Amino acid sequence: MALIVQKYGGTSVGSIERIKNVAQRVARFKAQGHQVVVVVSAMTGETNRLIGLAKEIQSHPDPREMDVLVSTGEQVTIALLSMALMEMGLKAKSYTGAQVRILTDAAHTKARILSIDEENLRRDLNAGHVVVVAGFQGVDEKGNITTLGRGGSDTTGVALAAALKADECQIYTDVDGVYTTDPRIVPEARKLKTITFEEMLEMASLGSKVLQIRAVEFAGKYKVKLRVLSSFEEEGEGTLITFEEDTMEQPIISGIAFNRDEAKVTVLGVPDRPGIAYAILGPVADANIDVDMIIQNVGADGTTTDFTFTVHRNDFTKAMDILKKVQTSIGAREVKGDDKTAKVSLVGVGMRSHSGIASNMFKTLAAEGINIQMISTSEIKISVVIDEKYLELAVRVLHKAFNLEQAA
Ligand code: ASP
Ligand code: MG
Repeated sequence: MALIVQKYGGTSVGSIERIKNVAQRVARFKAQGHQVVVVVSAMTGETNRLIGLAKEIQSHPDPREMDVLVSTGEQVTIALLSMALMEMGLKAKSYTGAQVRILTDAAHTKARILSIDEENLRRDLNAGHVVVVAGFQGVDEKGNITTLGRGGSDTTGVALAAALKADECQIYTDVDGVYTTDPRIVPEARKLKTITFEEMLEMASLGSKVLQIRAVEFAGKYKVKLRVLSSFEEEGEGTLITFEEDTMEQPIISGIAFNRDEAKVTVLGVPDRPGIAYAILGPVADANIDVDMIIQNVGADGTTTDFTFTVHRNDFTKAMDILKKVQTSIGAREVKGDDKTAKVSLVGVGMRSHSGIASNMFKTLAAEGINIQMISTSEIKISVVIDEKYLELAVRVLHKAFNLEQAA
């Protein structure tokens, strides 16, 4: 007998029909003698619908009320799924985040989980219940409803698995695992049997939308055994996120991630002196804008430097406005921007022990006439910023160049 936490995303509970299918799957695990905790998202589109309603009233909705509003989506699905389980003759009980007591900080709309009271859940499990918990929500110390940020149900699932010391956390979604890249762009993309936790973290932060990045971080911190599977297929092992590297079979590159939401800001001809990076990025950080890649290069004359960084496209206008304001005080010649850029990244722990990956990547892009605007590397990743219009081409040719369609 194992204790399993299963998380079902919005498409998996998007209709009554589908909720009944989830109930059937849960029932099969129960019949095998397992204890099952189910975490659900809101029905697909529901969270967006609720946010839309709020914005018809307040252009910047009050954060506390926003959380009261959007948390209702998951309250609907926990009740419906519990009813569906009961109809199949199972004992089931739903819990909102506050009812479990998933305690979070008070940062409305992006709260972090502080602790989970798992005793009630454990008692229900021991009494033979399927426990159904609302994803994405918690409660702060004062009893206010909080939510964990978009996609937060993944984090609820992993956090419950950690608190209950579950044997496995299964994330059911509309894809049947983690792929070498997005199959909508590369039809030959291959499903990975395993991916290391570090690679998954890179993939999630680089734009692969399969798992919320905070959920991956959580899994890493508490060593939760995490598996991504399809809720629409009966069989299949999905993709297991592992903590060990299998050196014998480890492919050099595991996947290609990409992000279309990249925008580039360039500050030209600033004096090359201590404090200049801070003078540029300080005001950007103060405005709560996340900076991704940063490049600084000393100019030809040796006295000035050019400084380029990327931000999320949504923050582009704000970042440009900030820099235009400080342009004179920092002595910059010009501030330029481009919000039609994209980032493509190769990810793989095998890079640690193999050389020539970067040059192969650059050669492949050069052969297609794709100009690289920025490059950044880490131990297990190489990212390039390119013109957005070449994104799909770049992903396709790289997938081929690194033989990702073939199993390692
Ligand atoms: N319903 C929330 C959202 O759409 C949480 C989730 O689905 O994970 O972001
Ligand atoms: Mg989701």
